[in-house]
Amino acid sequence: MHTPLCKHAVGEPEEYVRRAVERKIDEIGFSDHSPMPPDYDPNFRMAAGEFPAYVEKILNVREKFPGYPIKLGLEADYHPGTEDFVRAVLKRADFDYVIGSVHYIGDWGFDNPANMERYRRADMYEAFREYFALVERCAKSGLYDVLGHPDVIKVFGRRPDRPYDELIRGALGAVRTAGMALEVNTSGLRKPAKEIYPSRRFLEIAREMGVRVTLGSDAHRPEHVGEDFEAAVALLRAVGYTHVVRYSKRRGEEVPL
Ligand SMILES: [Zn+2]
Ligand SMILES: [Zn+2]
Repeated sequence: MHTPLCKHAVGEPEEYVRRAVERKIDEIGFSDHSPMPPDYDPNFRMAAGEFPAYVEKILNVREKFPGYPIKLGLEADYHPGTEDFVRAVLKRADFDYVIGSVHYIGDWGFDNPANMERYRRADMYEAFREYFALVERCAKSGLYDVLGHPDVIKVFGRRPDRPYDELIRGALGAVRTAGMALEVNTSGLRKPAKEIYPSRRFLEIAREMGVRVTLGSDAHRPEHVGEDFEAAVALLRAVGYTHVVRYSKRRGEEVPL
């Protein structure tokens, strides 16, 4: 879940929690976009100086819903060269979980609608190859617990014109070695990709390789909390998953689906 601090989400944490309770979801986690070095995508994240206010917001909402589990997380970008900055941010709070996400290939913010023209023209096999190579480095950095929206490179609906299982396997090998879980993220259904992140094929390979999963709706507004979870659970069951992972203090625990 996000907060208005990232500049592209609406609604206060309390509204997100109320929605989760209404939808009978057992717990909620906030993982807003982490501060990054000042020149890195500043319009889509909290500023470094806002970080204490973020943590305070989540701790405050916990007090308003005693007994309901509200996790403190963070969605931190993986971008080569920023690892030390991220490592320092992660020391600033007692997180329950940290999501690692790739949003950039070099200087190309590929999931930003402002860069649609570049997306439309790209060689998609090459874009997927570069994206998954970054995912592999993300996992190898050892900084994160969960891989965010694992195949978000499909966001605007394009995919390679030939199979790319070997790219998925390369990324997943590193994810498994790092002990990370995959975020099964329903927000892809709200994007031109019109598909959960990751795809069924990706999850089949992950299942076969023994990579664990979490469930997320990546809500940027309260009404998106838990949206399409029925579809996500059906997909997970269809490919053979029986458990998902929940995190507390950066330790994962498997719970039955
Ligand atoms: Zn966002
Ligand atoms: Zn993201």
